[in-house]
Amino acid sequence: MKIKKKVITKKKVMKTFVKSVWVFNWFNSCGFTEILPVVSSRWDMERFGLVAVNSPRKADALFIAGYQTPKSMKRAQQIYEQMPSPKFVFALGACTMTGGMYWDSYNTVKRIEDYVPVFMYIPGCPPRPEAIFDAVHKVIVHVDELPDE
Ligand code: SF4
Repeated sequence: MKIKKKVITKKKVMKTFVKSVWVFNWFNSCGFTEILPVVSSRWDMERFGLVAVNSPRKADALFIAGYQTPKSMKRAQQIYEQMPSPKFVFALGACTMTGGMYWDSYNTVKRIEDYVPVFMYIPGCPPRPEAIFDAVHKVIVHVDELPDE
């Protein structure tokens, strides 16, 4: 997983992101199952500062999972536009990168990056909880290590 440096520029702005990441989810189909282990008691994402919020207006990060259609990506775009900057999109699972098992459908989006700017792809079908935590942790460490301005 590679971090796109140009997205993170100001450490001061990002301080709250380092302390806790407020997440809004946009899941289609079995994409929802990707996050269930992460929120359940075994992994308990709140221990790591990840909090699910009920409005994109409060969110730092947008998790997108599941195979998407042009229609569903319009909703994802609306969600993304409502989020305050700086904001990060994490794309979970094979379906967000390739269309997954529905790759040859006329109505499946093959790369959600064509619709919203994806900060990091997390591979897997579904991705392991460790991979999701690792992706968020990589961003947090990167932000934390930025020099003070
Ligand atoms: S990557 Fe796998 S688990 Fe996730 S939405 Fe696609 S088929 Fe379902």
